[in-house]
Amino acid sequence: ARRKIVAGNWKMNGSKESIKQLLSELVVHENADVIVASPALYLDYVQALAPKGILVAAQNVSDQDSGAFTGEISVAMLQDLKVSYSLVGHSERRSLYAEDDAFIAAKVAKLLEAKMTPVLCIGETLAEREAGDTFAVCQSQLQAVIDVVGIDAFSDIVIAYEPVWAIGTGKSATSEQAQEVHADIRQFLANESTVVAEKVQILYGGSVKASNSAELFAQPDIDGALVGGASLVATEFNAIIEAA
Ligand code: 13P
Repeated sequence: ARRKIVAGNWKMNGSKESIKQLLSELVVHENADVIVASPALYLDYVQALAPKGILVAAQNVSDQDSGAFTGEISVAMLQDLKVSYSLVGHSERRSLYAEDDAFIAAKVAKLLEAKMTPVLCIGETLAEREAGDTFAVCQSQLQAVIDVVGIDAFSDIVIAYEPVWAIGTGKSATSEQAQEVHADIRQFLANESTVVAEKVQILYGGSVKASNSAELFAQPDIDGALVGGASLVATEFNAIIEAA
């Protein structure tokens, strides 16, 4: 069986004060890997304060090694801080900062070269779902990365399926809707490698909260969650960890 991951994406929220408080209240369980994706500015602080068993992730990373890239953060800098995960291709990066598939694939490649774990975010918009393009969109977002790093690299990648219409809306995909897409993603990878498809952890993200997490986690192809808003509330995030 695949191990569950409960990851929190704090997005652009928090302060030294609130982060310290939140970390002091989190309760880790043996049943799942727990990851928090902090704003880059606080990564070192979070590493220092995080209770044992909580892993730390960046929310984004540069596709370049070093040099004249003002405002960017490199893989080497993350390694320097012993940060071993980074989100890549979050829908907010794709839509608000115009990150395209090729750019995202280059970031994934950089992380893999450094033996870090990318959490590759994919997912369709509401218009795409309504047009019946959900699977096609997810597949093409995956294919763009496969084209660059190859299928076998997906053994070292975590996928997060985050339907854009469910992010921050309070309107989660139902467990059936999520399972359907997760199964399709796994089948798509299985067409190239059944070994990789069985191994890869696929997280669901989009309005995950304590009250809907157990049902999502009960689905055979849902291997955990990428949690936004609810990851900022210790009681909620703890309950999601416990449900995993
Ligand atoms: P919400 O849980 O706030 O909907 O955010 C999901 C998300 O974007 C996690 O990356």
